[in-house]
Amino acid sequence: MAYDPNNIFAKILRGEIPCDKVYEDEHTLAFNDINPQTPTHVLVVPKGPYVSWTDFSERASDAEIAALVRAVGTVAKQAGAVEEGYRVLSNAGANANQEVPHLHLHVFAGRPLGRMVAKAKE
Ligand code: 5GP
Repeated sequence: MAYDPNNIFAKILRGEIPCDKVYEDEHTLAFNDINPQTPTHVLVVPKGPYVSWTDFSERASDAEIAALVRAVGTVAKQAGAVEEGYRVLSNAGANANQEVPHLHLHVFAGRPLGRMVAKAKE
């Protein structure tokens, strides 16, 4: 899938739409989800134009990859979530219900998070 520069996170990265920023470095931005599913729900995104985890893993530089991974750890620490636990999740493609076509990692914390995924009905 080609990168769509008009996706909502691209607009946030360009400053065209505001966000509630919690962390930023040269390669990465993290901000609170507009519709939080948990008391802490942060989105961690690379600043570069990557559609998904697959795209990022193929095209991103080592520095961008390291920055994204480290940013997730920093966000979890900043949220005070390390001791009680947290979950990192990235949806890629249709089966995963990816809504925004710019790679993002969800960081969920602040309450028990239940099962990893819903079990399929038999
Ligand atoms: P996905 O389903 O693609 O993994 O998750 C997209 C996430 O982006 C959703 O949790 C949704 O609430 C969040 N989101 C969508 N639009 C905006 C926005 O304009 N600002 C922020 N902060 N989050 C958004």
